[in-house]
Amino acid sequence: MQDHFDVVIIGAGVTGLYTLHQLRQRGLSVRVIDEAPAVGGTWYWCRYPGCRFDSESPTYSYSFSEELLREWDWTEQYSPQEHTERYLNLVADRYDLRRDIELSRRVVSTVWDAADHRWHVRTDDGRERTGRFLITAVGALSACYVPPFEGLDSFTGQWCHTGRWPQQGLDVDGKRVGIVGTGATAVQIVPVIAPKVAHLTVFQRTPNYCVPLRNGPISDEQMAQIKASYSDIFRICSETPHGFLHQADARSAMSLSREERLVFFEKTWLLPGFAKFLANFQDVMLPGPANDEYSDFVRAKIRARVHDPEVAEKLIPRDHPFGSKRVPCESGYYDAFNRDNVMLVDVKSSPIEHITPTGLHTTQAGYPLDVIIFATGYDAVTGALNQIDIRGENGISLQEKFRNGPRTFMGLQSRGFPNLFTVNVAGARNTVRVMEPLVDWITDCIAYLRTQGFNQISPTQESEDAWTAHVIAATDGMLRSKTNSWYVGGNIPGKARFLLTTPDPAPTGRAQRAAITASGYKGFELS
Ligand code: NAP
Repeated sequence: MQDHFDVVIIGAGVTGLYTLHQLRQRGLSVRVIDEAPAVGGTWYWCRYPGCRFDSESPTYSYSFSEELLREWDWTEQYSPQEHTERYLNLVADRYDLRRDIELSRRVVSTVWDAADHRWHVRTDDGRERTGRFLITAVGALSACYVPPFEGLDSFTGQWCHTGRWPQQGLDVDGKRVGIVGTGATAVQIVPVIAPKVAHLTVFQRTPNYCVPLRNGPISDEQMAQIKASYSDIFRICSETPHGFLHQADARSAMSLSREERLVFFEKTWLLPGFAKFLANFQDVMLPGPANDEYSDFVRAKIRARVHDPEVAEKLIPRDHPFGSKRVPCESGYYDAFNRDNVMLVDVKSSPIEHITPTGLHTTQAGYPLDVIIFATGYDAVTGALNQIDIRGENGISLQEKFRNGPRTFMGLQSRGFPNLFTVNVAGARNTVRVMEPLVDWITDCIAYLRTQGFNQISPTQESEDAWTAHVIAATDGMLRSKTNSWYVGGNIPGKARFLLTTPDPAPTGRAQRAAITASGYKGFELS
């Protein structure tokens, strides 16, 4: 078997598959390695009930093939996990991607060989492949975080993290189930399993502002219309800050009367998905009075949904502004708490203390459980990189270098790690729309280096320092800086606080990358 490639890609998810296809189109030899036994990344692992994305389904389509766009039918406005997984498998088959993908192999280390200008990539079976270039398509949210609760090993029931949902499923029917966490994941699971379980206990540390998803089927006529308008869909997404179809209203909410604002809030509330905030007044998503008022608006919506006023008050966030954490979209989440078999436990006032063979104990009470679901999130962006021992020039460790947050130029590359493209650090918005141009830039860059006879590329110290300073400065003015969440590494105890999403609107990032290409890769050292 061949072991030397032009490019090694870690990850066979939505990004890895696209990157493989694009690089192969350029005639490069590529090897993709993934620890999962199947392609799909997130859409393989997150098989929990209710899993779907909050992107409008057509915006998740790869754009590279007219044939694929014509053939594939999305069935729901917000596609469920199993359908998206099917899509990615179809792509893998249709474009014969599997022959360059190794599955069930975990990359344990990658070492830069300065003499040979190659990355040596070692997997858990002890084998080594080399690549002139290395691309980490490992996802922003793939390193599962299970809090180190004492006694978890002793639990005799079944437990799992939502990001490693058992492939054969998890039987919750008629069981006493506990779910820890109330982020976007738990918000999807709770309403789906509540009618099936004997009893569901939701352990909530911080309530979230959840907005109605308003999912629905896509009819044949609608799908035909979508197919006829893909170019417009992609164009609009390319113009918006996050790569979605929603356009913000350029007015300031505060330039209108309170009544006018409320009419607008009510109107956008009826829209599907993220439109509630991405198609809202532009200042709703900035710290300040418009955001304060919208936070109150959403609080009132929650209150109106939950019958028991005490439970409603517990579900209402008060310690962070709307939009500072990722806003979960819900389909029946709040209604689930109106059921007799669903109980909300506040683990902020009485934290989880330990787990016993038969259940979970907070500082106040014990809860007998048959199943525990950890919807406790991810060690975002850097977590997946830290699971690999990545050694650059002179043996420096990427984990060490990123200890206080990723030090990169535009998330793309870090000095001292030549030819390593950290695509998972540079993305995190409406995934496919933002990932495609990013990967295209990397593909063009690699093709340029080859045709120009360069062996390696690495950012200059100045460009990396300037970018890092830019990220830090930009964070201050963002809602995201106002609380602890994965956006800023605040969800993992001991993790350095640093913005883990890109600080600029997607069109700005694209323009910056285009300028870099046009300047002959200014900000990078080519040798
Ligand atoms: P998350 O948003 O980080 O939520 C984790 C939850 O676990 C939080 O409620 C957190 O409480 C709680 N938690 C963590 N440690 C705890 C502890 N020791 N004790 C009690 N509670 C604890 O994770 P997630 O829900 O998996 O979502 C992660 C991201 O994945 C989302 O933000 C989103 O980007 C993506 N996602 C997308 C979709 C979609 O497209 N529809 C669906 C699911 C996920 P605190 O808030 O107090 O920390």
